[in-house]
Amino acid sequence: MTHWSIEPNLLVLSRGPDELLLVNRRGGSPLHVQRGGAFVADFLQRISATPDDRCATSLAPAEMPLFHLLRARGFLGETATRDTARLPASAEYDAGAPHQIAAPAGTRTAVSLYLLLSQSCNLACTYCLNGQQTYQKSQNLRMPQQIALQAIHRFFETLAPGGALEIVFFGGEPLLNWPLAREIVVHCEGLQRTDPLGRRFRYHLTSNLTLLSRDVIEWAKRHAITFLCDVDGPPELHDACRPFRSGRGSFAAIERSLRRLRKERLAVSMRCTVTSTNQEQMAETAALHRDLGGVSSAFVPVNPVTSDEEILPADLLPCPRQYAEGLKAVFLQGLWQPEQLHPFNTYLGRVQGTERLCQACGAPYGNTPVVDVRGDVYPCIYLVGIRRFHLGQLQEAAFPRRTVLERMRAELDVRRIDGCRDCVWRGLCGGGCPVGRLTVADNPLATPDHVRYCREIACRTSQTAIEALLWHYADQHRKDQHLDRSGFPA
Ligand code: SF4
Ligand code: SF4
Repeated sequence: MTHWSIEPNLLVLSRGPDELLLVNRRGGSPLHVQRGGAFVADFLQRISATPDDRCATSLAPAEMPLFHLLRARGFLGETATRDTARLPASAEYDAGAPHQIAAPAGTRTAVSLYLLLSQSCNLACTYCLNGQQTYQKSQNLRMPQQIALQAIHRFFETLAPGGALEIVFFGGEPLLNWPLAREIVVHCEGLQRTDPLGRRFRYHLTSNLTLLSRDVIEWAKRHAITFLCDVDGPPELHDACRPFRSGRGSFAAIERSLRRLRKERLAVSMRCTVTSTNQEQMAETAALHRDLGGVSSAFVPVNPVTSDEEILPADLLPCPRQYAEGLKAVFLQGLWQPEQLHPFNTYLGRVQGTERLCQACGAPYGNTPVVDVRGDVYPCIYLVGIRRFHLGQLQEAAFPRRTVLERMRAELDVRRIDGCRDCVWRGLCGGGCPVGRLTVADNPLATPDHVRYCREIACRTSQTAIEALLWHYADQHRKDQHLDRSGFPA
């Protein structure tokens, strides 16, 4: 006896009254129903509601082509029981191969090593997560050369032949310790030149760009250093979010630096940290990022927990719903291609079926280690200073504490997270950026509202990005086929 059921990995998206997109999260071609979506949704509902084997035999002859099409696309399956016949439903997600970094040392193909060249900063952003205590900002701490080189050698050794170590100059404000960045580049270039395994270095500078010198530009040109800089909105808005310590706005200085970098054809990625202050101007900010010459644009909701494990004021956090609407508006504006627009670009591989994962990022695999001025190492820049994520000190024989990463991997496995386990988005989402969840967990100052914020912002980010990308590719396919919105030849 044949029983038919809806494929448990089927994601059903609707747009307007009559358009439907059916996507099997395990792969295969999606089905874009441009007209008659309501009919197909009803048809699927009937299939899932019809008991036992009667669903196929009870269909009208005119419905059989649709039945066969859905079967051929793998949206309907033969089952022995009706347990999974729900719409939409989720099933065990086959996570596929884990991140390559889980492989033993000496086999990694890419690692991004964050070095806190300076733990102080010349700005006083309203949402700065670098705590007074953990970053000791008033001490103007600078990384000694010995720590930097030790970190570089340590992580360079973990690379496979031909692998790349990206050195991310970070802070505080790393340009407060620019001479060390130069020494690092010289050292790395020497290592690279003589490395028998062909391993390479890349350099990236995350900076507020208020201290850009001619020297930085020259070195950036010579060694292909790329940049990341925050611009949080038009001048007044940006200045309200990111003033100098004196209280003066930083926009004018940053704009000057961006102009110089653009003239020299140096690549700057732009980022906006989204708070309640600028959440309503996201589309405007995306356009500004382009006008300022950025090569990409990123929108990152502020994390509520500082490195001192203090909680940011609740009224500084963006509204998750508004943030998601802003993201969608930025995407639909069409100024940036999906691969240039964060967070959309992080979901591309999953939506295109080239990437599968059970954790949303590489931090639990040690892909993004951060080293502070004392040689203390953490798995992610947002986890610096939080003792339960301390991987140890470079100088210690016991470094790294693998139990920390093992615990993170287990806790962040999307198949195990409460609320994610049965989520229909799970296979494409991977659980969302885990930073919020990790930092509020076990923090006695975090209220249920903070926990809710972190959860909701992660979900809304994933769902907004995935849905927008799926429709984007469906529309692109329709245009490539020269069809109009009704599905007829244009
Ligand atoms: S530029 Fe970065 S480190 Fe400096 S105050 Fe702003 S958020 Fe903090
Ligand atoms: S983070 Fe949200 S959208 Fe993603 S799998 Fe978990 S519950 Fe689903």
